[in-house]
Amino acid sequence: MALRDVIGQDRAVTILLKTIERERIPSSYLFTGDSGIGKKFTALNLAKTLNCLTPSSPHLTKGGNEQGYPKKREGYTGALDACDECPSCKKITAGIHPDFLLISPEGGQIRIEEIRAIDDVLALKAFEGRKKVVIVDDAEAMNPFAANAFLKTLEEPPQDSLIILISSSPDLLPDTIRSRCSTIRFAPLSDGACEEVLKKIMVRHLRGKEKKSGKTVTSPHGREKYLPEDDLQLSDLIRLSMGRPGNAMPGDIIEERSAFVQLIEEMLRAEKDGWASKEEMERWFEFILIFLRDMAAWHVSGEAAVIINRDLKTDIEKLSRETDLQGIIKIHRTLNSIRGHFRFHLNKALTWNYTGSLLRKTFGVHYV
Ligand SMILES: [Zn+2]
Repeated sequence: MALRDVIGQDRAVTILLKTIERERIPSSYLFTGDSGIGKKFTALNLAKTLNCLTPSSPHLTKGGNEQGYPKKREGYTGALDACDECPSCKKITAGIHPDFLLISPEGGQIRIEEIRAIDDVLALKAFEGRKKVVIVDDAEAMNPFAANAFLKTLEEPPQDSLIILISSSPDLLPDTIRSRCSTIRFAPLSDGACEEVLKKIMVRHLRGKEKKSGKTVTSPHGREKYLPEDDLQLSDLIRLSMGRPGNAMPGDIIEERSAFVQLIEEMLRAEKDGWASKEEMERWFEFILIFLRDMAAWHVSGEAAVIINRDLKTDIEKLSRETDLQGIIKIHRTLNSIRGHFRFHLNKALTWNYTGSLLRKTFGVHYV
């Protein structure tokens, strides 16, 4: 993969291509925008492009589109892109390039030890590449000690280095860190771009399945061999991903949502904690917020077309009858605020009980 494979983020990619073309890459970037829209993918491919041993120039294509680029990028004739095949590109993809480091939170936090590892990589001259690149994913998860130490790194950036911070909640980062980075905003994807990304995710998903089972996955679609047989599933996924295709898991998302409706019922019956893990709890909250949004939309319009979870229409209707619009808006606001506290490591069983009591108060027990 290379920068040319980033889908639906033309604005962000064009800015990056321009800085590469003019050789004016800043020492630190902050990529902001919702999760699942390609920030990390873009950062990885930027790291590859900056260190590629045989970079190509797809932008030289006169007619524009032949290499998959939108025509508006025609003008950037000097910009290079990663080849994705040289040893450097392969090592970055595998995460084993000595001049490349990707940091992610562990147990919900980025600690000072991780920041020291960044300093270790940046302190040395580039081993193999032209530029040392460090990506800090979910940068807002830095604890105060880590943020403090990191500020020093940002203030005195070593030569030939690039730090890319990635955050879907940049307002949680200290101002002192934010102000030292060049911010690039990523936007949710259009339905068309979502479809393109989801098809690629599906291909990967099904290839993985094939590899595991040793059997060929066949499809009636000739051109896109791996498309699911039921096109309805693809349109469901496009709607459910709400412009954030990286969050939609083909195959799983449809089944998972039915299980999540079951969990609502269990809460209304005051049963004990049904979330298998904290990760599942967080995904359930994502789900219930969209589910409540559907209930509100159903209340206002009474039309199935406005519902995102169209296949759960019966449940949405059933639960909508138990409360008025005000009640739905109120509980949506409360649950959204609980979700905002996840970074404080909420106790799973307590959150279950509390959320259950709120739901029972809003919807009563008539539902079960
Ligand atoms: Zn390469």
